Amino acid sequence: MIRTALTHHMPHTLREAGDLLGGLDGTTAVLGGGTMLVPAMGRGERTYDHVVDLRRLGLSGVTSTADEVELGAMTTYSAVLAADVDGPANLLKRLAAGITGGPQLRNQGTVGGSASYANPSSDVPAALVATGARLSLHGANGVREVTAAQFFRDAFETVLAGDEIVTKIRIPKNDARTGYFKLKLSESSWPIATGAAVAAHTDGRLTQATVTLGGVCATPVTVDVTECVDERGVLTVSDREWAELIEQHLEDPWDDELAPASYRQQVAGVVARRAWEETIQDGEQ
Ligand SMILES: Cc1cc2nc3c(=O)[nH]c(=O)nc-3n(C[C@H](O)[C@H](O)[C@H](O)COP(=O)(O)OP(=O)(O)OC[C@H]3O[C@@H](n4cnc5c(N)ncnc54)[C@H](O)[C@@H]3O)c2cc1C
Repeated sequence: MIRTALTHHMPHTLREAGDLLGGLDGTTAVLGGGTMLVPAMGRGERTYDHVVDLRRLGLSGVTSTADEVELGAMTTYSAVLAADVDGPANLLKRLAAGITGGPQLRNQGTVGGSASYANPSSDVPAALVATGARLSLHGANGVREVTAAQFFRDAFETVLAGDEIVTKIRIPKNDARTGYFKLKLSESSWPIATGAAVAAHTDGRLTQATVTLGGVCATPVTVDVTECVDERGVLTVSDREWAELIEQHLEDPWDDELAPASYRQQVAGVVARRAWEETIQDGEQ
């Protein structure tokens, strides 16, 4: 139960939402699916004078064109699972299938909410960076677009200004093969480390190989592993060399109650390799 008084606003247009967020006096929170925010308010960890609820803005749903897959920021994990998508956006389906918390969380938690929360131990940030996603941010002064790599600034910190909300996430379509691997303590726990691998192809040839790691640092880390694989994607370096390359990219590994930084540093190479190996299976399907 939320024990502090607040005003609940439910704008019907983006303009109304921007004006509210830019003009309200007092502390204000944006409400997505509420799976993180509402329990935190119930526990008294977060208190606000105003809550701006996004549910009437029509920001749910997945649409696909020849060039990209577009997700409204309020699209739930369940809606991602049900959507007919192809190309790199398939990574989000893999991710949604493995989100813990059961049907309630999948039916309520949103991709835009998870991105905006920017928890390092979350599946969403690294997957968005790996797929080259772009986010539309809407505020009192209009819309701007940023890449996912620009969006995540630090742990629990994004480039969103106080009057801005995420409205759309767009993922380019191409021939890339993808792989996803998540390391967690148990079936019901959050990820300790995730790997989102992308094997880009031009005319059927592997042209770039990357693995984006989530959970291992404050923000997602992308490692170019093109030099470590052959044209079929098979590793041409030893496991040790691979792990050393990954480790070189981990500045200040993330430390929280799930796992210490030293553990994350140690497992990052294996997580990246397992994600990469899935791109080969993806190509065989
Ligand atoms: C039991 C449980 C299990 C979970 N398991 C996993 C897991 O396995 N992997 C994983 O990655 N995550 C997991 N999560 C986290 C879950 O993914 C997030 O709680 C959820 O996605 C947040 O989305 P939401 O829409 O509910 O956000 P909210 O709780 O509504 O908001 C989260 C934050 O983002 C802001 N916000 C929300 N939407 C927007 C927007 N469109 N624009 C700007 N700001 C916005 C809010 O102001 C708030 O600060 C789990 C959570 C629970 C409770």
